[in-house]
Amino acid sequence: MAQTHLLLTLSQALTAICLDFRGYEPQTMLFCEVLRALGAPGVTYRREPGKAGLWLSYGNQGKMRWLEGEALVDFMCRQIENANLDPEHLSLICRMVFQTPCRVDRHPDTGQPGIVVQTDMAAFQCRQCGQCCRRLDYRDGMTEADVERLKKMGRNDILAWVRTTRTIRGDIAHRIWVIPGTNEFAPTCPFLKKGVSPQRWICSIHEVKPDICRHYPVSRKHALMTGCPGFDINAPRQPAPLGNPPNK
Ligand code: SF4
Ligand code: SF4
Repeated sequence: MAQTHLLLTLSQALTAICLDFRGYEPQTMLFCEVLRALGAPGVTYRREPGKAGLWLSYGNQGKMRWLEGEALVDFMCRQIENANLDPEHLSLICRMVFQTPCRVDRHPDTGQPGIVVQTDMAAFQCRQCGQCCRRLDYRDGMTEADVERLKKMGRNDILAWVRTTRTIRGDIAHRIWVIPGTNEFAPTCPFLKKGVSPQRWICSIHEVKPDICRHYPVSRKHALMTGCPGFDINAPRQPAPLGNPPNK
């Protein structure tokens, strides 16, 4: 059964917020809402509709300056990390960022406060449209664990399409899907096959596909932001249950 809730430690919640910020183009409307909710002293901000940046003034800097791209996301992550948020306040920010009900609860084992995030994945159903396989940039998405697993299974047919290299920062990356014997990415995943009807697609390595494919989408927001039609937008949402232990 699909996992319906996640219990994050406070530190994991902060990390998840920054991962969300880094996962998409700068979400300037959301950033303004978050700054308002943080009530950050000395920070003023202004959006320019249609532009992927913000005018900001902070610290000792009186004049507003334009921030966009990575610099803007770094700024937002610093604001969140330095805000010293209490659990209730953090839960409110999580609700805004993840666009789903969130609440504070205590971890059943440690007794420490954490944030319960409703994933809504019970309402997800893959439509086999193949959009994710054809459009998303999985590129460096295969993990070391995926590679080890496939090696153990002797799946050289899959590994032939994986090119292990180093990134500019020197980290190991397992690139997918690279045409064997070349440095060129395949135009589309070689394991995506036509389904029973013209609009349907299937993954021919479904049982062993990389985790990045297996875990897509991770939430309703992730689906909406990346064009996945797997959630029925008309279906009523279940409120996050109060007082029940979350599914783990
Ligand atoms: S985009 Fe969503 S609905 Fe379409 S194949 Fe991918 S997971 Fe399934
Ligand atoms: S391995 Fe399967 S799920 Fe992943 S991109 Fe290819 S067809 Fe899609």
